[in-house]
Amino acid sequence: MAIITADKEFALYESMAARFDVAAAKLGLNEGLKRFLRYPNKEITLYIPVGMDDGRLEVFVGYRVQHSIVRGPGKGGIRFSPDVTLDETRALASWMTWKCAVLNLPFGGAKGGVVCDPAKLSKRELEGITRRYTAELLDYLGPERDVPAPDLGTDEQVMAWVMDTYSMHVRHTTTAIVTGKPLDLGGSQGRREATGRGCMIVCDRALAKLGRAREGQRVAIQGFGNVGAVAAHLMYEAGYRIVGVSDIHGGVCNPKGLDIPKLLGHFHEARTVAGFRGGDAINAQDVLFLDCDIAMPAAVENQITSQNAHRLKASILCEAANGPTTALADEILEEKKVFVIPDILANAGGVTVSYFEWVQDRQGYFWSEQMVNERLEQMMSASFDAVVAYAERHRVSNRIAAYMLAIDRVAFALKLRGIYA
Ligand code: NAD
Repeated sequence: MAIITADKEFALYESMAARFDVAAAKLGLNEGLKRFLRYPNKEITLYIPVGMDDGRLEVFVGYRVQHSIVRGPGKGGIRFSPDVTLDETRALASWMTWKCAVLNLPFGGAKGGVVCDPAKLSKRELEGITRRYTAELLDYLGPERDVPAPDLGTDEQVMAWVMDTYSMHVRHTTTAIVTGKPLDLGGSQGRREATGRGCMIVCDRALAKLGRAREGQRVAIQGFGNVGAVAAHLMYEAGYRIVGVSDIHGGVCNPKGLDIPKLLGHFHEARTVAGFRGGDAINAQDVLFLDCDIAMPAAVENQITSQNAHRLKASILCEAANGPTTALADEILEEKKVFVIPDILANAGGVTVSYFEWVQDRQGYFWSEQMVNERLEQMMSASFDAVVAYAERHRVSNRIAAYMLAIDRVAFALKLRGIYA
């Protein structure tokens, strides 16, 4: 069903566009609207000069892509990774537009990145990259324009530097310029756990929909970072059985279930899940294909492909990562009748609590963790139900339903606004 050729299977923007095209055709979107919504509104490339600790001047390449500001300010993370490309940033920015629309948040979509390896940079060098990146983008960022957040390779500290740089330039503290900040600088309770918690909420909903109890459901998670480790811990505590986890260095599995608190102890010492004695070693990618009920990719893109999708044993695929499944793999998963919780729904817990953070910063009034978690649960559950009902009504996959719902909402807002020319 997806309109993509094998040679483009791993091209991320093409992967997004393949799903967009199917959804837009099913919605009967006219050609002009289709063209406008398929492409980003703005793409900015930066060359960022930074004085390195050894006295050299280095120039880093960075991007900010604003895909859409139709429903509100751009919203999306900043990624620091050697693998960052414009194509990837463009895809991630588009996914942010659809994700915010699926959750009905008053945001558009954006994404940024810098080609660098944070593991090889000193704190001072990282700060230099962050501050210059922010300063170069001053005319494009702002609480009403474009609001960044953390992503792969960036954290609360990086967000604090973004906030400070922006604030120094506009001459007053502007906490709502970024989300995912430290609590002491206008961050929100519950933000750090939000994406992992959101994944658990949609898994709970999927099980309820399929008439299965949560206790003992076997879960395999690829990626043990901000999203994967939190999901593993929360789900373990809720009664799920975590049968495998992996990170970039390797994985560990145990059909009887891993002791996640002990594994977290091992992880804090070793900085990897590999080598944990409470299970057997397994390859980082193979963990997704373990005998389990729920597979959760929570690492990087393009993990479930036309080459390996047939190996998936899980009946539920919860896409915690962005773009973990290729468009060609979608077809195989549909044939296998896997219940897919698509990325633009499954991992939207993070941007939902980012929205709460932005609201709190603008009000100057901060909510309790309980209030954050309750509102997150309400919004994720309502969005899950809306996507699944839409899929049933229109006889499409959950993924295409999520895209259709999102595109329809953005297209409707655009029709109301009209085109300014
Ligand atoms: P992170 O950097 O905290 O963790 C990434 C994890 O993936 C690490 O454990 C790393 O070792 C592992 N990993 C990397 N490459 C791997 C590979 N090839 N095989 C196995 N493991 C590998 O990042 P994160 O914030 O947890 O983000 C993970 C994914 O979730 C990304 O796709 C990100 O875009 C997406 N996401 C994150 C958030 C958020 O709030 N952090 C929100 C929405 C989506």
